[in-house]
Amino acid sequence: MLHYPGSLHVTRDPLLPLVVALLLSVVGSSFGVYAETPSADRAATSTEAGSPLLLKAKQGQIIYLKLQVEGQPVSVTGTFRDRRVPFFPVQDSEFGALVGIDMTDQAKVGELMAEITYPDRTSERRIHVRVVHEDFGEQRMTLPKDKVDLDAASLQRNALEQEKVKAVFAAFTSERLWSQAFIVPVDGIPMGAFGRKRFLNGQPRNQHSGEDISAALGTPVKASNAGLVKMVDDHFFSGLGVILDHGLGLYTMYFHLDSAKVKEGERVARGQIIGTVGQSGRATGPHLHWGAWLNGSRVNPFSLIKLPIEP
Ligand SMILES: [Zn+2]
Repeated sequence: MLHYPGSLHVTRDPLLPLVVALLLSVVGSSFGVYAETPSADRAATSTEAGSPLLLKAKQGQIIYLKLQVEGQPVSVTGTFRDRRVPFFPVQDSEFGALVGIDMTDQAKVGELMAEITYPDRTSERRIHVRVVHEDFGEQRMTLPKDKVDLDAASLQRNALEQEKVKAVFAAFTSERLWSQAFIVPVDGIPMGAFGRKRFLNGQPRNQHSGEDISAALGTPVKASNAGLVKMVDDHFFSGLGVILDHGLGLYTMYFHLDSAKVKEGERVARGQIIGTVGQSGRATGPHLHWGAWLNGSRVNPFSLIKLPIEP
């Protein structure tokens, strides 16, 4: 789908996101690491006690990390590349976290640090994450000059809208609102647009930060998971949009809608209809722009679908 130069928009090819579920068992001084993929090529590795753990993920993907701890910690928190990695209890002595790899993160090894806090002590786990370069491809478009060079009023409107979206992401809901697996929000055809580098009349534009799903006008759009409606607004580039907060810094976005069926502040269930597919804003045909934002990372929303979460 053709997009005008929306700064929120950023795009990629329909290759299956690599999702790694890591079970990190900490028993005394030894621990094992198991990297799971939901596909048939399930990989498992283990490490010698004390040797560094290494995970791999491509730009724009999500890692599902599970950490096994001893006893009853008060909290488990993490950081990766200065971004927050909130952990949540999964079961006894097991904590999970979703780690976002931004689509523009440098392809190199970084360190994820998890801090496990007990009433009387703190322990740390350091995990190396190798970010692997992804070739998102590019899209070159030629449009009439007046469609590319915007007037001052449109630029100002867009700047204000971007600020509003930033404010939505700046808030942090400390409760995890999702529990079951994420679902694809619309019955349509994914266009493989995530991460795509765009050029309009030869001028470089922002990378496309979501996936475009082609669907007929009026097709119902469902909430990918349970959450809180944080924004329902009509923006210059992205048109009528809904942003859902799933807690712990995870948001999903639904743009270019024809209609919205929810209001700001409302709690929604997984699969609840939140709107219908349209072509509002700067879209050339009916489709859903579906985006995901995870604690500062712009990730491919289809990474959510591949997470090894109970259906
Ligand atoms: Zn899009």
